[in-house]
Amino acid sequence: MAVTMEDAMDDAPKHFCGVVAMAFNSDVKSDLKKALRVIQHRGQEAAGIAVFDGATKYVRKMGLVHEVLAGPEYDALHGNVGIGHVRYSTTGSSCAQNCQPIVVTTNVGDVALGHNGDLVNATKLRNKLQNDGWAFLTTTDSEIIIRILANELTQSDPVKAIRSTLKCLDGAYALVIMIGGRVYGARDPLGLRPLCLGKLDKGYCLASESAVFDILQGEFVRDIAPGEIVEITPTGFTGHKMSGPAHTAHCMFEWVYFARPDTIMDGREVYDVRKKLGQVLALEQPADADVVIPVPDSGRANALGFAQESGIMYEEGLMKNRYVERTFILPEQAKREEGVSLKLNPIRSTVLGKRVVVVDDSIVRGTTLRKIVYMLRRAGAAEVHVRIGCPPVIAPCYYGIDMKTRDHFIAAGRTFEEIAELLNADSVGYTSVKGLQSALGLSEQDLCMACLTAEYPTCVPGEKMRFQKTLL
Ligand code: AMP
Repeated sequence: MAVTMEDAMDDAPKHFCGVVAMAFNSDVKSDLKKALRVIQHRGQEAAGIAVFDGATKYVRKMGLVHEVLAGPEYDALHGNVGIGHVRYSTTGSSCAQNCQPIVVTTNVGDVALGHNGDLVNATKLRNKLQNDGWAFLTTTDSEIIIRILANELTQSDPVKAIRSTLKCLDGAYALVIMIGGRVYGARDPLGLRPLCLGKLDKGYCLASESAVFDILQGEFVRDIAPGEIVEITPTGFTGHKMSGPAHTAHCMFEWVYFARPDTIMDGREVYDVRKKLGQVLALEQPADADVVIPVPDSGRANALGFAQESGIMYEEGLMKNRYVERTFILPEQAKREEGVSLKLNPIRSTVLGKRVVVVDDSIVRGTTLRKIVYMLRRAGAAEVHVRIGCPPVIAPCYYGIDMKTRDHFIAAGRTFEEIAELLNADSVGYTSVKGLQSALGLSEQDLCMACLTAEYPTCVPGEKMRFQKTLL
């Protein structure tokens, strides 16, 4: 490979996204739009839907769901089946060309695809296909999937073609696929990225998160099993399980940060897990303090759990301005810091003269917490103790979470005391890896914790593989 994995991570679009698919006995368009709004938190850069009504039509653009799915182009779409996608990407890789669903025309009909996740063998696959004379229009690994699928469809029926395609892929994917008027979903063999099935009044639906079914007045049916391909119709569904590894590798960060608290993922409610993480944190890393405050919004359930377990009063101590853009993806450190100051401001009466425990879901670079500690001290806090629901993030994610090169991570190679010094906090404590497993009720054999342990559930060049503990 000409580029290292970490270089590739920097340049490649990140598929930290959300997908939905529907098969109804009436028009799907407005429900697809509603469903995408429910999972808007999974990607705010771009959105799109593709529907089938004898032919495949689509709208996909940069922007929020309600901006993209409006106007004459959207009004002109009709069809009883369809798929949708919301896309997150880093600033550098955001461009209209990379929006999804991707649609291609084949001699067995149009094929549309939405993908959440990252393939670890994308560069290898692309190089091989390009050497064989294949051409690509975008830089996404999702295009590789649809090109292979289109090729397979010339020889096999849809399920066989999807199965052969998936056999070429290594890494994380939750896929929604429309082939002519038929709708399919597929989940990677390790279950890294989520996908679940719901029943609505008008038919069946696939979505990244179960909250979609609640808000569309439907019912959660089940998670798509790791390595399963499912076809949905207005009246039912058929699952086809591929043979796969003995263990799964559900991404722990979905529960820690990414998914909505009201979503139930692989049998565990996100809110409940986050609250338990806070409780474990209070037991493992207690603090002598007067008040517990969350970093809004993602630290709330952790802080509540911490307060309940420790008996320290929970208060709102930081006001969040929800109209400020996401600071995490801003390209320069100075801009990220400025963004945090614009986004958060202490509530003085909560913190003045108090020993404050401030709780967040995770620390990556430390930008947010460093700024918050500074603000809390400026607002008169007597002491500031930082507590984090997720164990220290020390290694890159190759499966779709936007955590990049190793030198970005404040926790890599540092003790809690050293991190406290960098944040100017009186103390710092994180939930342990064991504590995380107990909050989730899942063993290490069924979790991807690569960003915490630097041991990966698939073969990543230059990294250790989970359970094998050897450098590949
Ligand atoms: P940092 O400021 O770099 O330490 O990032 C940590 C903050 O960003 C926390 O408040 C998290 O809730 C949030 N966060 C963590 N991971 C991500 C991610 N991959 N994308 C966006 N925000 C994140």
